Parts: sequence; structure tokens; C-alpha cells
Amino acid sequence: MAQLNIVTWPAKVLETKAEPVETFDNQLKQFIEDMHETMQANSGIGLAANQVGVLKRITTIEIPYAENRYESDDDELDAKQWWHNKRFTFVNPIITKKEGKISAQEGCLSFPEIFDFVDRAAEVWVTAKDENGKEFEVHATGLLSICLQHEIDHLDGVVFITRMSRMKAMRIRKKIMRRGSLVTEGEP
Ligand SMILES: [Zn+2]
Repeated sequence: MAQLNIVTWPAKVLETKAEPVETFDNQLKQFIEDMHETMQANSGIGLAANQVGVLKRITTIEIPYAENRYESDDDELDAKQWWHNKRFTFVNPIITKKEGKISAQEGCLSFPEIFDFVDRAAEVWVTAKDENGKEFEVHATGLLSICLQHEIDHLDGVVFITRMSRMKAMRIRKKIMRRGSLVTEGEP
């Protein structure tokens, strides 16, 4: 087990489309273990391989019930669901159907300290393979639905600020760039 380095925006790998996984071997299993470990160590509820610099279509998700880090107007989001506290690994995930609309505050390990509202589909149906290459399907609602859409976006090279209004995204970009230049200026 090893923790992986999380890449932060504007790293190019975050805006590059990931390739499908074709070989399900021990190396893949080890990498998936490391992704889960990295996600937990950083208190994340979802992680895409792009975020650790690997362009493979893999995402890990685990949403603790106790932590309601997302705020929304929807009480459904606060109720305990079957997918809470479950360890999910989605390899080559595909959204086959979307329904409804939901808006919730999202964060991202690649955008430290940035939290803002994003519009998503309320429900999604996703088919994927597990770490052994076995196909499965989930009907995701609430936070699992939001998280899956956020992570599958990562695999397509789409970061969550591009799902916000142009004004909001620009404000966040500026904020991060300013922070980056401050860090650079402070270095010898
Ligand atoms: Zn993210």
C-alpha cells in the first residue's frame, strides 16, 4: 500500500481524457488499493486516476454517512442511503441514462479550498467493471449520483469549474492563479 500524490489544477493531466483499462492484473489491483488509500488519507469521497497523474479510466468512491459535507436544499441528500459507507471501484464507467436535476455544493481534491454549486442530473445509471473485470451496474441517486458525474467528468478531462457559470469559473481561476503566483514569488 502506498499513498499517491494528488495533482492540483492547472495540471494538464486534469484536462486530458483518460484511456480505457484493458488489462485486469495485480498491478491494476494494487493501483486501485493505492487510490482508495490516497482518497481516505485526504478525506475525499471520490478520486479519479487523472488526479494522481494516471490517464486510465478508474475512479474510487466511498461516501461516509456521518459526514454531510455537501449542502443542498434537498432533504433527500441528508438521509441514509444504501450506497453510504460502501467502497466502490468503477473501471471504464459509462453513464447509460440520466434523469432529473440537482444542484449541490461540490469540492475537489484537485481544487483545495474551492467549494461551489454545480448543476447535475439527479439520478444516473452507470455500468462499469470492478477491479476483477466483472461488469456491474448501479442506479445512483443523491451524493453518489453527483460524485459519479464529477468523477466521470475527470476521466473525460473535464474539471468541475467548467460546469459552473462562466463568471464563477473565471473568478475561481483568477483566485487560484493569484494563489499560485504568490507561492512562486515567495520561493527563492
Ligand atoms: Zn474532483
